[in-house]
Amino acid sequence: MSIRIIDENCNGCGLCKRACPQMAIEVENKKAIIDLELCNFCGACAAACRFRAVAIEIEKQAREDLSQYRNVWVFGEQFRGKVAPVVFELIGSGRQLADARGSELAVVVLGSDLEAAANELSEYALDKVYLYEAPELAQYDGERYARILADLCRGMKPEILLAGATTTGRSFMSQVAIKLYTGLTADCTGLAIGEDGLLYQTRPAYGGNIMATILCPYTRPQMATVRHKVFPHPEKRNNAKPPEVVRLNLKPQLHTSRSELIEFIEQVEATVNIVEADIIVSGGRGIQDPSNFALIQDLAQALGGAVGASRAAVDAGWIPYAHQVGQTGKTVCPKLYIACGISGAVQHLAGMSSSKTIIAINKDPEAPIFQVASFGFVGDCLEIVPLLTKKIKAMRGQG
Ligand SMILES: Cc1cc2nc3c(=O)[nH]c(=O)nc-3n(C[C@H](O)[C@H](O)[C@H](O)COP(=O)(O)OP(=O)(O)OC[C@H]3O[C@@H](n4cnc5c(N)ncnc54)[C@H](O)[C@@H]3O)c2cc1C
Repeated sequence: MSIRIIDENCNGCGLCKRACPQMAIEVENKKAIIDLELCNFCGACAAACRFRAVAIEIEKQAREDLSQYRNVWVFGEQFRGKVAPVVFELIGSGRQLADARGSELAVVVLGSDLEAAANELSEYALDKVYLYEAPELAQYDGERYARILADLCRGMKPEILLAGATTTGRSFMSQVAIKLYTGLTADCTGLAIGEDGLLYQTRPAYGGNIMATILCPYTRPQMATVRHKVFPHPEKRNNAKPPEVVRLNLKPQLHTSRSELIEFIEQVEATVNIVEADIIVSGGRGIQDPSNFALIQDLAQALGGAVGASRAAVDAGWIPYAHQVGQTGKTVCPKLYIACGISGAVQHLAGMSSSKTIIAINKDPEAPIFQVASFGFVGDCLEIVPLLTKKIKAMRGQG
């Protein structure tokens, strides 16, 4: 794709400059000038121009030489210098992908004051940690982050780029993909290198009824986001060579953004964060009444765990959405998951089936939850759960 100003038509009126969301146009000597490094060919300038002075041409794209792309990158999401847990899980998976490709694994961190993040990351089996620090990056800004990460990819050409499917990852990785004219597979549950050297990106599709494996054969980088807890936390590198920490420099023009942060309001988590819990006791429609969540809560408390729920229970208004486990809720991977009155629909399993030990309590011996359960109780959870709570409290001397 190419874009140019038709000089004989341009009178320097500045309409295109005002319309450009990328702030890629300046007017000098009554002529518009486009900064091609900032332009993303959105066409807003051409639409705004009343003088037909902007020409955008779509060329038949020559297929790029993909062999110039090497290495696996993980986006090092951090908040106030603390690295997001999903980043470590991606380092574990990224290490396997990089080894399979015989290439390097790097984490790229954007922010300000990244010393602590660099130290934390250096404990893992990485080849490089790229740091890009600027005061404007102290707070997350999707537009800025996307522009900078895309620019780094253009220059350094990673073959694979992974990020957490967090609020941050979801909101800006798609912008990076668009800027790089490449594909992005969101919410992957499996990543592997195929015999052809491509990244096989697997994710649930059609409401979780099938698993789709998606390839990006013609463009680079191959981009994927992955939810927290889909992959295990990797071991630290121990005595292996520490990664090289590289501080990057970029043009300050890349820091521009159309948004301004007015205030940052921190939300205090009112509920237990089920994603981090080691033990989860979940209730489904089978608990029959919202008041019975008290039984689930009692068992969770006796075990020192958190309360989860199926979507049916959440949709019925029995418990807030923050507790929902599954495809449209949270993905969890606790040491112990107890499913009470939950049928085990594929969308629920998508969020909990990688739990280490699963105990299912269900009246129906044919319920699909038993297919993934390590242990099962066939019976009424309203009777079994209080008995379990009593027994556990007695064993723990909780009276
Ligand atoms: C696009 C999409 C996304 C979805 N995302 C999610 C998601 O993120 N999470 C999720 O959970 N669901 C999700 N769902 C819904 C999912 O398909 C199921 O409808 C839902 O998981 C069912 O919840 P449940 O098992 O609690 O209820 P049910 O399917 O009604 O099962 C209740 C179970 O309780 C058992 N039971 C009844 N009484 C008792 C008793 N007294 N003691 C013991 N057992 C008893 C029954 O035998 C039954 O197996 C999604 C659906 C779609 C289409």
